[in-house]
Amino acid sequence: MASRTRTRFWDPSGHRYGIPTYPRKKVPPHLRTLRQLAAEGLRPGGQGPQAQVLWCSRLPGPPRVRATYLYDVRFALPKRSRRTRTTPPKVNTSRRTCSECLTDVGYVLPRHLGVCLDCAEEAAA
Ligand SMILES: [Zn+2]
Repeated sequence: MASRTRTRFWDPSGHRYGIPTYPRKKVPPHLRTLRQLAAEGLRPGGQGPQAQVLWCSRLPGPPRVRATYLYDVRFALPKRSRRTRTTPPKVNTSRRTCSECLTDVGYVLPRHLGVCLDCAEEAAA
């Protein structure tokens, strides 16, 4: 039954449904739902739905086909938000340089340790 459902909703050309259609587990990697785009800090931009994903609702009652539109991540734009407009504060490299191994570890050293996490772990061992 599962395989029947899969082929039923398999229509990448949009010949049957009028818009490229995929079952849930066969969605091409460049297509995202609105929710997936939002999770990545993106919005559809100017594009309309590029495709849809169809599945059967598992709610009690007669089986219903549900649809969610898909958008092409390549046309997506970053969400407008304060977070994307502000640049992260510059961190003084001295705060990232371990006094023990003298390397810039790429993150701010925890003040209570004074050394990088690797060195702290070694010291603890
Ligand atoms: Zn270190």
